[in-house]
Amino acid sequence: MGTGFATVYWLDASDHVVRVSDSWDTFALTNGGETCCWERVRGRPLWEFVSGDTTRMWLRTLLGHARMSRGEVERPYRCDSPDERRHMAMRIVSEEHGAVRVEHALLRSEPRDRPVHFEPHLRVGGASSRRCSICGRVGRGSRWSEPDADELRALPEPSGAIRVIYGVCEPCLRMLPDGRSTPPTDRKRL
Ligand SMILES: [Zn+2]
Repeated sequence: MGTGFATVYWLDASDHVVRVSDSWDTFALTNGGETCCWERVRGRPLWEFVSGDTTRMWLRTLLGHARMSRGEVERPYRCDSPDERRHMAMRIVSEEHGAVRVEHALLRSEPRDRPVHFEPHLRVGGASSRRCSICGRVGRGSRWSEPDADELRALPEPSGAIRVIYGVCEPCLRMLPDGRSTPPTDRKRL
């Protein structure tokens, strides 16, 4: 321990949140808003707090992989703020009886060239942009770009935000273990 994975939650075998680390509420308030505070998540299924079918599938696959291998899985992800690129890592560690420990760490952050705001758009067809929940990039057609990239400058709605549908991009999906050929420990893929 002592590796910087300070923000942690624990799931039981049926993916209910059974415990969080002391630092959880600070992290949740910064990243997910007060709906993710411990008093609200205690005993609840994790899936109430994860939106988007592909994002759920991504996380479900990694949880399953950690449990099946009885080892751990680690993946980089992004948890950006409007002004900062925040490079995070998530580590899922298998514990007794199907329980898992999910650890989060901020690896580094850097300022954006310009601030970027997003507006979730739930109705498919009403938005031409997608945003990857894992790497934070914005997709138009088959191309995925950093949200402050020059080619996306023209996108914002009158509100000043980029309207997006959340999902997981193809490159991030390709980083999933396939459950057949991946060795139990795949940390070197990070
Ligand atoms: Zn991605």
